[in-house]
Amino acid sequence: MKLFGGIEAGGTKFVCMVGADADNLVKEERFPTTTPRETIHKVTEFFLPYAKSGELTAVGIASFGPLDLNPDSPTYGYITTTPKAGWKQTDLYGEIHRRLQVPVAFDTDVNAAAFGEQYWMPENRSLDPFLYMTVGTGIGVGVIINGAPLHGLMHAEAGHFALPHDWQRDPFAGVCPYHGDCLEGLASGRAIEARWGRSPAELEGDDAVWELEAGYLALGLICVICVLSSERIVIGGGVMKQPGLLSLVQRRVTGLMNGYLGTKAVGEEIAGYITLPALGSKAGVLGAIALAETA
Ligand code: ZN
Repeated sequence: MKLFGGIEAGGTKFVCMVGADADNLVKEERFPTTTPRETIHKVTEFFLPYAKSGELTAVGIASFGPLDLNPDSPTYGYITTTPKAGWKQTDLYGEIHRRLQVPVAFDTDVNAAAFGEQYWMPENRSLDPFLYMTVGTGIGVGVIINGAPLHGLMHAEAGHFALPHDWQRDPFAGVCPYHGDCLEGLASGRAIEARWGRSPAELEGDDAVWELEAGYLALGLICVICVLSSERIVIGGGVMKQPGLLSLVQRRVTGLMNGYLGTKAVGEEIAGYITLPALGSKAGVLGAIALAETA
């Protein structure tokens, strides 16, 4: 049997899966993110039996970043300037490729999630550009354009847009170590917890929290819609589990755009334009398997 591996490399855990496709998974395991050496060892031990038997055709990695995605760079496949302790300048792609000896596809967690939502869901296949925004501990945006993840200078970092910030309404300075009150600084899960002193889950039903949050997310979304002209945006991550937040965001996007684009997608059909992930919390790792299949 031809098998493919998927690795979702996150700041708190690594999710590993092996299977023939999204509907035929053979094994799944999660490892806490400790040191690079220990974590990568556990990940490769998970896949080695399949590599040795010759069944493992390729592996895809969906990683937290920032990453070096330039194949001509001497540090291709590295996690570069991450604030995650111990993980700066980690050769994630190289270590896994050396130990497993199979082709390895490597991309950001959000590019992989965007790719997976498009690859595994037939209704998304023809939509291009196609975007995935995650609102969790941080905020990231993955972009599929002309059928492939967007790279260029490095990869999209649309969580770090500068937004209009009403300091009277929201005197919170933001949590981004580089920019303070960028989108991630004001609206990530970490920002919500720092501003209100409680986790997003504990703030369920508090209208002031979620009106403010929806406003910031909508400002970020109109930036990406105006720049990339995406045909659909999937929005996932832990913060989006808040009941009612999606429809608040959809309403704010429509309101802020104010009819300018003249398209129903950002009007009466907004519910089909900005959607939750069809693959749920598995978008990242199943995206990694999709990348492996096309490696
Ligand atoms: Zn920032």
